[in-house]
Amino acid sequence: MLEDRDRIFRNLYGFHDASLKGAIRRGAWDGTKLFIDRGHDFIIDEVKKSGLRGRGGAGFPTGLKWSFMPKADPRPSYLVINADESEPGSCKDREILRHDPHLLVEGALVAAFAMRAHTSYIYVRGEYIREREALQRAVDEAYAAKLIGKNNVHGWDFDLYVVHGAGAYICGEETAMLESIEGKKGQPRLKPPFPANVGLWGAPTTINNVESIAVVPEILRRGALWFADLGLPNNTGTKLFQISGHVEKPCVVEEEMGIPMRELLDKHCGGVRGGWDNLLAVIPGGSSVRCITAEQAADVTMDFDALGKLGSGLGTAAVIVMDKSTDIIGAIRRIAYFYKHESCGQCTPCREGTGWMWRVLERMERGQAEKSEIDMLLDVTKQVEGHTICALGDAAAWPVQGLIKNFRPVIEARIDDYKKTHARQAAE
Ligand code: SF4
Repeated sequence: MLEDRDRIFRNLYGFHDASLKGAIRRGAWDGTKLFIDRGHDFIIDEVKKSGLRGRGGAGFPTGLKWSFMPKADPRPSYLVINADESEPGSCKDREILRHDPHLLVEGALVAAFAMRAHTSYIYVRGEYIREREALQRAVDEAYAAKLIGKNNVHGWDFDLYVVHGAGAYICGEETAMLESIEGKKGQPRLKPPFPANVGLWGAPTTINNVESIAVVPEILRRGALWFADLGLPNNTGTKLFQISGHVEKPCVVEEEMGIPMRELLDKHCGGVRGGWDNLLAVIPGGSSVRCITAEQAADVTMDFDALGKLGSGLGTAAVIVMDKSTDIIGAIRRIAYFYKHESCGQCTPCREGTGWMWRVLERMERGQAEKSEIDMLLDVTKQVEGHTICALGDAAAWPVQGLIKNFRPVIEARIDDYKKTHARQAAE
């Protein structure tokens, strides 16, 4: 279990002062100029050494991503921070935005400097109105104290803009976010070119998640090796876990990467409602990853590699717990409806496939289907997965694949029940 002294987010629950004064008391903005004075490459190397992997879902090494940015390009460079937290189950970035925003503002300066960017945008989810206000207050305080802005005390001119989204899930996709910031309809771009080459306003851009940026100053303060020693090899550091659903006490908590799932649920959430034996399934990383069974959940650790081996994923570490009272077909049908609703409609497999999968699941939930349709549904998920412009197609396909892989007998039993009931009614 993570020791208190190793926590990065010391005001996660908002018990303390979120203002600049309070943040400085907790250690923020301490030594920032020293890191900057040591140069761009020092920061990138430290982040690489720390083993930090992106906290937005994909888990790509953050330092490596930063190193893709050009070092001598006549165009300006940009850092875009993704605060469009919209994945069902995810609710960690909002705690940073409203309770510890200075860690993010400081991290934005340091990360932007590392990539030779003088401008950064934080794109905040449309529904996060109070969070946007809290973040803007922190940005204003940092400007007023000359921590950022032109001729600031750190010697690196840096402007930070808070952009408010309009509530579309797809704007969390990095290139759709760039389109939205540019004032266009938020639709993903075809890649390549990748944003590190042609990003915001056609210039080199890196897009990072809120948590990935907010932990950087503390990594530099305490040293890359401190961070690398926490967690597991290749899955280092601390992580904000968000647990919802059928546990006694849903919560957001900072823990070491690689904590066993059972320990996470028992120690921080009071356990599964009705006891561990009442567990049916867990979606470990936000609604887009494949669910795992109770047996798998009993042994798995919460990290990218272990969950990947099960065919699922850590994603944003949004753990959705479902006990035996859950209609698993109905739960996945609801998720399928979400992705159908959020598809931007650019590519045919996603636009048509998401609706098709949802409609079939609607029937399957009632048992009004043929067993042969289960394999047909699986086949359609494979035709959507990997055949679209952005990852929303995969995000829509994976939950359905998880359902069929782990709960095929439940679907078959539902179909049998329906047939039996209707045969009886017809005979009467
Ligand atoms: Fe739009 Fe879906 Fe294609 Fe992504 S996969 S670009 S959301 S239609």
